[in-house]
Amino acid sequence: MDDIAAVRKILSEGRVVAITGAGVSQESGIPTFRGVGGLWEKYPPEDFATPDGLMRVYKHDLPRLTQFVRDFYLALTEATPNRAHFGLAKMEEDNILSGIITQNIDDLHARAGSKKVMELHGNAFRLRCMRCAKKKMFSIVEIRRLLDHASSGPSKLKMVKMITHFFKKCDCGSRMRIDIVLFSEPLPSDVWQEAWQSIEEAKTVLLVGTSGVVYPAASLPVHAKELKKKIIEVNLERSDLSDLVDHVLLGKAGEILDQLTS
Ligand code: NAD
Ligand code: ZN
Repeated sequence: MDDIAAVRKILSEGRVVAITGAGVSQESGIPTFRGVGGLWEKYPPEDFATPDGLMRVYKHDLPRLTQFVRDFYLALTEATPNRAHFGLAKMEEDNILSGIITQNIDDLHARAGSKKVMELHGNAFRLRCMRCAKKKMFSIVEIRRLLDHASSGPSKLKMVKMITHFFKKCDCGSRMRIDIVLFSEPLPSDVWQEAWQSIEEAKTVLLVGTSGVVYPAASLPVHAKELKKKIIEVNLERSDLSDLVDHVLLGKAGEILDQLTS
């Protein structure tokens, strides 16, 4: 039996939980942050992915911050789900997959039709109240308008106007912010607990396009291994997790998910 056939058989037994990373969205045109040409090459994460770093860039280099916001959101607003997202949504519809734990913030699993998506790092299309944690989705149209504003020549005054216009006040009176987890911030504890529990209830864990170097997300497959779950990995190349897994399927996530689900 070849690897694809063997993995199809394992998946058909159900109770599969997927853990996805930036690689699942690469074929949708969203580059991974870490690789060659990734966002972190141009924008160091210590400046652009931490609360302190972002405040520093805001104070000292506003044009660079607006350029970053444009680069960050442009790919996100233009992307549409690919065959890997649709394949995972079909697996849920067929009652094979019980949920997706994702590190991505691009909303593409939900847009492909997946219902149970545990977003460990939040969602770039959602706002969260900084006091009461109430949430509100941000439409692609609103984000495009924000990008247009950001392109119209940054000044501190324009930036403040933009923040008050787009990041509305919550009903409780506090300001809303983008609902993503920056470096050094804790993961949302309810989502983390749900993810941990879904690994415990799973029979098989399917890793798709994740390097396994971002913690604490990368501790989930390690936990699955301790619990003797079957682990399958789909990746362009071997990763830090490959030595843990039962089957490594090398190739593009879209092509492989197509073969696994068609
Ligand atoms: P990573 O960038 O560390 O690793 C991506 C992995 O995907 C690599 O192992 C790479 O070999 C693999 N890959 C790349 N293209 C692929 C393809 N077409 N098919 C299969 N595999 C492919 O990603 P990570 O482990 O998810 O961690 C990155 C962090 O950055 C996460 O915390 C995430 O929040 C964030 N991020 C999110 C997005 C997004 O929302 N789309 C994009 C980039 C980064
Ligand atoms: Zn509030």
